[in-house]
Order: sequence, then structure tokens, then C-alpha cells
Amino acid sequence: MNKKTAEHVVIVGGAILGSFCAWSLRDQGFSGQITVVEKDSSYRYCSTALSAACIRLQFATPLNIQMSLYGVEFLRDVKSRLGQDAEIDYVEDGYLILGSEKSVEQRRALIELQRAQGADIVELNPAEIANRYPMLDLDGVGIGAYGQSGEGWFDAYSLMTSARKAARASDVTYIEAEVNSFDTTSEGVTGVVLADGRTLDCDWCILATGAWSGGLIHNIGIELPVVPRKRTVFSFKSPVEGIGMPMIVDTSGFWLRPEGHEFIGGIYPDPTEDFDAHDDFEPHHHLLESEFWPALATRVPAMEEMRLLSSWAGHYEINTLDHNAVIGPHSDLKNLIFATGFSGHGVMHAPAAGRGVAEWITTGQYQSLDLSPLGWDRIANNRPLVESVVI
Ligand SMILES: Cc1cc2nc3c(=O)[nH]c(=O)nc-3n(C[C@H](O)[C@H](O)[C@H](O)COP(=O)(O)OP(=O)(O)OC[C@H]3O[C@@H](n4cnc5c(N)ncnc54)[C@H](O)[C@@H]3O)c2cc1C
Repeated sequence: MNKKTAEHVVIVGGAILGSFCAWSLRDQGFSGQITVVEKDSSYRYCSTALSAACIRLQFATPLNIQMSLYGVEFLRDVKSRLGQDAEIDYVEDGYLILGSEKSVEQRRALIELQRAQGADIVELNPAEIANRYPMLDLDGVGIGAYGQSGEGWFDAYSLMTSARKAARASDVTYIEAEVNSFDTTSEGVTGVVLADGRTLDCDWCILATGAWSGGLIHNIGIELPVVPRKRTVFSFKSPVEGIGMPMIVDTSGFWLRPEGHEFIGGIYPDPTEDFDAHDDFEPHHHLLESEFWPALATRVPAMEEMRLLSSWAGHYEINTLDHNAVIGPHSDLKNLIFATGFSGHGVMHAPAAGRGVAEWITTGQYQSLDLSPLGWDRIANNRPLVESVVI
């Protein structure tokens, strides 16, 4: 294959989305020039490095389930795709999403929707949950939705660096520079303008700047509703053995998963303190005592004895319109391709998004999975595609 040899793709943002777009382009035979512009090669603050790195099939939007199914396939087979040295420590121990007594019918309908999409999710009643996980106090729980296969967690940083390494090995150039703006005509982007004054001419520009995307593209008058919202992760020890436990999402809103023999977990901040975070990466320390620990010790009494090891905060790239990604071309600037706004599910969807973006650029349409419902048009026309299973 010798596709688009004379074209230059500039990808802005070189973390997991940028790297999967780059690698997928080469995987699909794109033979032109690919330059990835990343402002911080340490990747210290990118969401990918700070994420909980889980993959789930339990969504309410069928397309998200399909993207996750491809993600699972990719993770299981990562070495044959990204190279034998791709070590991502994928653990497929499932999600257990607990529902209140009042939400049983609603949860059951979601399980049916997910199963119809091919997701291996089963309903557990409280007795079945107690039998499997005797450490849980199930007061107020009416239902559990459990992913028997196809859900778990992995090392997102390693997945990103493996995709980056595979991209570089196939002649993708990464440069460390900050993008400030874009040169445009009425029909497209002609150049990517760097803070150091240089301009990179381009035939395609992919926006993969995560939580920074809304602010950056605003510089050329495009209102993309993607904002940075801080999410805190607590890492802790407890007398409970982590190995073999699923990711648990509680009725109170906290989530918890094993990290080896220990655990990580978190809980949403109150909406009154959930501001656009921009450069603020200080964890919400108070959430530990005020929200997370009490809820955790109620559901898992042995966790009353938990001991905090560390905490960190990263930014969810929240699409405030509908909590779903924005993927594909802008309606006027047709060579500006979005790959952003994943609203907390970008590491699991990076393989499917990268594949889709590469198909669009190499063939002018989606080939394997139609990602157009996640396109720009719904943003421009204010037609949300709401994802209700937000964790
Ligand atoms: C606490 C937390 C938990 C999460 N848990 C999960 C989970 O369990 N599963 C899941 O799938 N997702 C999860 N996410 C979400 C996931 O991390 C993101 O959806 C994903 O990492 C987005 O990847 P990205 O490449 O788009 O963005 P990022 O990883 O943020 O990368 C964007 C890159 O763009 C660069 N950049 C920004 N602006 C510029 C510029 N002007 N010029 C050049 N470069 C620029 C940045 O330096 C950065 O490296 C979580 C996120 C957080 C914060």
C-alpha cells in the first residue's frame, strides 16, 4: 500500500490518543509524513499517565460498548500489534457496578442493552453478590451488574509508550513544542503555529490535546465544550486482599479497584467545587475524610483500617454537552480532525478512536466502526448523545 505519500499529518498532543492516531495511520498504510507535536515529553500531567486505567463494557451508548469491545481485543493481543516488548499488565477481573433497590429496573435495562451489543455482563442479586464477595455490606443494594469478561485494568502509561515507540519505529516524528494556534482558510487548516514562532505546514491536523483541547481550539474561534475537571485518586493499603477483586462502583458513587495487593479508589467532588481546573493538579485531599473513607468503610467494613499511601489528581477532559468523545472532522475546516473529549474513558477507547481517525484520513470514511455519531455535527447543532454511565 502506498497511501497519500505526499501528505503531511500533524498531530497535536502526543499522549495516548495522539500516539494511537499516529500508529494506526501507519498500520493502515499511510505513507506520508507524520509529525506529533507534544509540549511536555515527560508526560507528567497528561491524563493518560494519571488515569485509573480501566476498561469497561458497561456503558449506555452502544457505540461506546463497541469501542470498548475493540479495546479489549487490542489489549489481549497487544504484543502482536505493538511489539513483543509491550508489557501492559492487563488484568481482566471485571467491574461490579452496584445499584440501589430503587434502580433495579433501570440497571436491568442497561444490562440487556449491553448484552445485546455482545458484552458479557450478568445480573447478580444481593445474595449472589454476598456469596462471591463476603467482605461487602450490601445494605441498600438491590442489584449488581458484573462483567464476567472483557472488563479490567492495565498500565495505561505503558500502553501509551508502547504505541509511541511503535509509531516512532515506523517513521513517525515526535517533536517537543507547544502549539499556540493554527493557520486556516475557510476550508481547512494549513499550518500549526508553535510557541517558538515556527509553523508546521499540514494537509491534516489532528487535535489530541485531551483536557487542553477546548482552550487551544478556542484560539481560532471554535467553541469545543471540552474542559479540564480535576479527579483525585487515593492509593491505600487495607487488611482486605486485593487480588481477585473486581473494580467496584458503589451506589454512593465511590469506585475502588485492586492495584496488586493494594487498592486505588476515588469519588466525585461535589458539583459546587468541580470547577475548570486548568493548571491545578493538587488532589482534593479533604474528600478522603469527608466522602471517600466513610462511604468505603460502610460498604467494605474491613476498610475502616485502610492506610493512605499516596494520592494524586489528574484532569478528566469533560465534554460538557454529553460526556462523550468528539471524533472526526470539523464541518467547515474539513482537514481538522478531533480525537478528544473522552470524558474519562479515553485510554480504553484510544485503540478504536485511533483506528477510526486513520480510516477517515486514508479512505475518507469509517470502515470498521461508524464513529460519525461522535462527530462534530452534534456539537455544532447542539444535539447531545448523552452517556449516562459516567464513573
Ligand atoms: C483520575 C483519572 C482517572 C481516569 N480513569 C480512566 C479509566 O479508568 N479508563 C479510561 O479509559 N480513562 C480514564 N481516564 C481518562 C483518560 O485518562 C483520558 O480520557 C485519556 O488519557 C485522554 O488521552 P489524551 O491523549 O486525549 O489526553 P492526555 O493524556 O491528557 O494527553 C494530551 C497531551 O496533549 C499535550 N498538549 C496539550 N496542549 C498542547 C499544546 N498546546 N501543544 C502541544 N501539546 C499539547 C499534553 O502535554 C498531553 O501530553 C481517567 C482520567 C483521570 C484524570
